[in-house]
Amino acid sequence: MKYDFLIVGCGFSGAVLARELAEANKSVKIIDTRNHIGGNAFDIKDKNGILIHPYGPHIFHTNSDKIFAYLSKYTKWRFYEHRVLARNKSKHYQIPINLNTINSFFNLSLNEKQVESFFEKIRIKKNKIKTSEDVVLNSVGEELCDAFFRGYTKKQWDLDLSELSAGVASRIPTRTNKDDRYFSDKYQFMPKKGYSDLFKNLLNHSSISIDLGVDFFESRDKYSYKNLIYTGPIDKFYNFKYGKLPYRSLIFKHEFYKKPSYQKAATINFPNEYKFTRITEFKKITGQKHEGTSIVREYSRSSGDPYYPVPNKKNESLFKKYQQLAKKEKNTYFVGRLAEYRYYNMDQVVGAALTLARKLC
Ligand code: FAD
Ligand code: UDP
Repeated sequence: MKYDFLIVGCGFSGAVLARELAEANKSVKIIDTRNHIGGNAFDIKDKNGILIHPYGPHIFHTNSDKIFAYLSKYTKWRFYEHRVLARNKSKHYQIPINLNTINSFFNLSLNEKQVESFFEKIRIKKNKIKTSEDVVLNSVGEELCDAFFRGYTKKQWDLDLSELSAGVASRIPTRTNKDDRYFSDKYQFMPKKGYSDLFKNLLNHSSISIDLGVDFFESRDKYSYKNLIYTGPIDKFYNFKYGKLPYRSLIFKHEFYKKPSYQKAATINFPNEYKFTRITEFKKITGQKHEGTSIVREYSRSSGDPYYPVPNKKNESLFKKYQQLAKKEKNTYFVGRLAEYRYYNMDQVVGAALTLARKLC
């Protein structure tokens, strides 16, 4: 059979495109090297019956009415606002840095107004914000940067804050109030029955067929198709013609404990202690009731499955060279976190996929 579209990758970008194209009466084959749907957002019950995210904690948040309404066709939701603590010298602090963090870290009792002037005193004013170091120093100064950002960033990226684009640290706001939510988006929810259920619904269409455990580069000749959508790493598509684009990888160490709770927040960040960056306890995110609990520790590394693009000037200019090749392609489209080399959240990937779908339909 000649498919209208072959889609490589069954994560949010590939699955949303598959659905939209199928709705427009196109025949779609979607493939993935992994033996499951959902890409990095995949979730599954572990052997103790606890719903876990094998590829690290995924919390859905968006400001877009359109994207929230779109996904709501395929899942019901559970209201959930993520809260994170960061451990420094055996004490836990709310992160993003807010009024409580400042009062507890400096042993003060400032109010909102006073903390604004306090930030003015400790921040190191930068006229131009170019790097993540500029972002952090400009908002909270050196001491808090060293306590909460520099070590975490080194662990996560193996780079200093000054070697990363501003966009990385800008993901974490600084607040003068007591808001201790990790995200401030309008919609903050978890899919009620999990991400894999959402994907099952998204891909449940008679014009979509799925092949799992299939690598595009090993089996591209087996498929006959008019158009190709590729959501994997873009440098690999071009056989690393201009050199390797750095992607950061992770090792996830999952553990189960026979006790109802492991830690006092859903996620605890460890900016300066241990080799892992953070520990997440899944039940605290999913709301599942169980007498035991499962956690994951994340260790960052340079090799292995690609999870994060590494945003800085050098990598962005290398990516642009690949992008130029991609733009010249006919009937081949690149979308998603790996193919567009963008530090996208799930909602942004859905947005990018919907935009491409509109163009193609
Ligand atoms: P992916 O989900 O990576 O899907 C790409 C798929 O393509 C993969 O399944 C891969 O196996 C397949 N593929 C690649 N090459 C080939 C090939 N040659 N042949 C066949 N298949 C191939 N976002 C949030 O909004 N909230 C969060 O809390 C959040 N937490 C995160 C935590 C971690 C640890 C990570 C790594 C990411 C997190 N994200 C989060 C981001 C989120 O995972 C991504 O935005 C989203 O999953 C990207 O979707 P995608 O389709 O672009 O890519
Ligand atoms: N970051 C940090 N300390 C923290 C939290 C975040 O230094 O306690 C920095 C770090 O560089 C991290 C980036 O901000 O990689 C983005 O953090 P986020 O939690 O958004 O990362 P993700 O969930 O995408 O891994």
